[in-house]
Amino acid sequence: PRPMEVLNRTLEATREEREKIAVGEAVVHWFKRDLRIYDNRALSMASEKAKSKGVPLVCMFIISPQDYQAHLTSPARVDFELRTLEVLKQDLAEKDIPLYVTTIPNRKDVPIHVLEKCRDWGAAHIYCNIEYEVDELRRETKLVKKCSENRISFTALHDDVLVPPETLKTGQGKQFSVYSPWYRAWIKHLHSHPHLLSASEPPTQNPPITRQRFSNIFSTSVPPAPANKQPSPEQKERFTHLWPAGEHEAQARLTRFLREKITTYKQTRNFPASNSTALLSVHFSAGTLAARTAIRAARDANTAHALDAGNAGISGWIAELGWRDFYKHVLAHWPYVCMHKPFKYEYTNIEWEYDTQAFAAWCEGRTGFPIVDAAMRQLNYMGYMHNRCRMIVASFLAKDLLIDWRMGERYFMEHLIDGDFASNNGGWGFSASTGVDPQPYFRIFNPLLQSEKFDGEEEFIRKWVPELRGVVGKAVHDPYGRGEGKEAERMGYPRAVVEHRVGRERALARYREGLGRG
Ligand code: FAD
Repeated sequence: PRPMEVLNRTLEATREEREKIAVGEAVVHWFKRDLRIYDNRALSMASEKAKSKGVPLVCMFIISPQDYQAHLTSPARVDFELRTLEVLKQDLAEKDIPLYVTTIPNRKDVPIHVLEKCRDWGAAHIYCNIEYEVDELRRETKLVKKCSENRISFTALHDDVLVPPETLKTGQGKQFSVYSPWYRAWIKHLHSHPHLLSASEPPTQNPPITRQRFSNIFSTSVPPAPANKQPSPEQKERFTHLWPAGEHEAQARLTRFLREKITTYKQTRNFPASNSTALLSVHFSAGTLAARTAIRAARDANTAHALDAGNAGISGWIAELGWRDFYKHVLAHWPYVCMHKPFKYEYTNIEWEYDTQAFAAWCEGRTGFPIVDAAMRQLNYMGYMHNRCRMIVASFLAKDLLIDWRMGERYFMEHLIDGDFASNNGGWGFSASTGVDPQPYFRIFNPLLQSEKFDGEEEFIRKWVPELRGVVGKAVHDPYGRGEGKEAERMGYPRAVVEHRVGRERALARYREGLGRG
C-alpha cells in the first residue's frame, strides 16, 4: 500500500481512540511547511482544542539538517525559512503563543523528540499539516502509532493542497495522469465542496499564565542554519532584499498582484521580462501563504466569483495553481517519482550523456544560447527562474544536451528558493518528456525561436547577459549566427556548446531507440 493510504488508514483506525484522550496541560502545533498563522487548518484546530479547555497552545518547529540534505534544500530556501520563523515567532508571541525551534541532527530522532516535548509540556494532543513526500508520510504514520501507545493524540491534516490526494478519480476509479480531465474534476469538486475553500480561524490569545510557564521558550531565538546550508553573507543580504520573508509579505504581494496584474496574466505570463506573474511560489513552498487563500482571493476578485470562468487572467491563474495540487496528487499516488524514477517504465531505457563540461556550462549560464544563459544566471542570482525559462532550460538540458534530466532536477532544487519536490519533479518530467502528462518526446523546443517569441524586445537577455549588451538588435538572440560574433567574442561570450539541429536529431534518435520505436 502507498504511504498516503497507510497514513489515512492509521489516522482513521485511531480516530475514535484519539478523540477520547483528555486534553492535558497544553496542546501542540508542529509547524512544517505551513509557516503562517492565517488560514492554517492544523494550527486552527490545535488552537480550538486548547481554547476549549483553557490550556496554552505551544508551537514547535524542528530544523532537520538530514531532511535538508535528503530534499536537496537550497541555502536560499533554508535562509528564507529561518527568516520566516523569526517573523512567526514574533507574531505568535503577540498572542502569548510560544514557538519552540530546535535542531535535531539525526532525523530518526525527530519522533522521539516530539514525544519528549509533549511529555515536558504535559501535552496530550499534537496537530500538524501533512507533507506528501514518502519519508514524511511514513514518519507521520509512525508518529500516530507511537503517540497512541503513549496516550497522545497525533492528528495530521490536509492543508497544503485544496483537494486531498486520492479524492479525484477517473470514470474507471483510477488516479488521473492527464492534467485537463483532472483539472475539470478538481473544479467540480471545489464547486460541490465549498468548505474546501473556506478560511480557518486564526489562533486565539493564550491564557495569561503561558508567559511564565514557557518563559524558557519565549526567551530563545531561532537557531542558525546548518553549516552546509548557510548562504554567504553577500547572498544572505541579496536574498533578504529580493525575498522578504513572512506571511505579511506574502499577503501584501498577493494583494498587489490581484490589484495590478492578474487580469492581464493570460496575455503576459509567458514573457520573462514582463514581471507579470505573482512571484508567490516561494511563499506557497514555505507555507507563508496557503494556495487555498490565494485561490479564494482570486475567485472573489473575479466576475461572479468564478473559479473557471469570468476574467481569463483570473481563471488562468487559478488553473496554474491547479498544477501545484495536481503534482502533489501525483506524488502521493505514485511515490516512486520521489525516487527519481521516470513516470513510465520504458523511459528508463533512454541512454543519457553525462558530459560534465556541457553540464557545467549549463549550470553557469555559458552555453552560448543567450536565452538559456540568461535564465540560468537569473536562477543563480535570484534563486528563482521564470516558468517559461524553466521549460526552455530543462528542455535544452534533457534534449539538446541529452543530459540526464535528474541532474537538472537536482541542480534546481539545490538553487531554487521556491524548490518544491512535486512541482519541480513534475516540471522536469514534463520538459524531458519522462513524467506524467509530458510534452511529447518529439516536441523539442528550439531555443532560438523561444527566445525570439518570448523575449522579443531582448530585455531579458540584455539584463542577465551583460556581455551581449553591445550587440545590436535581434542578433542578441544568436550573436555568432547573426553577424555579431566579433562583438560577442570581444566580450568573452562563449560559442554554442551544441548545434541545435544536431542536438535535436541526436535526442530524437536516442529517445526513439530507448522507447523501442525504431
Ligand atoms: P505564477 O505564474 O504567478 O503562478 C502562480 C502559482 O501557481 C505559482 O506560484 C505556483 O505555485 C503555481 N504554478 C504555476 N505554474 C506551475 C507549474 N507549472 N507547476 C506547478 N505549479 C505551478 N514551482 C515551484 O513552486 N517549485 C519548483 O521547484 C518548481 N520547479 C519547476 C521546474 C520546472 C522544470 C518547471 C517547468 C516548472 C517548475 N515550477 C516550480 C513551476 C513554475 O515554474 C513556478 O511555480 C513559477 O514559475 C513560480 O512563479 P510565480 O509564483 O510568479 O508563478
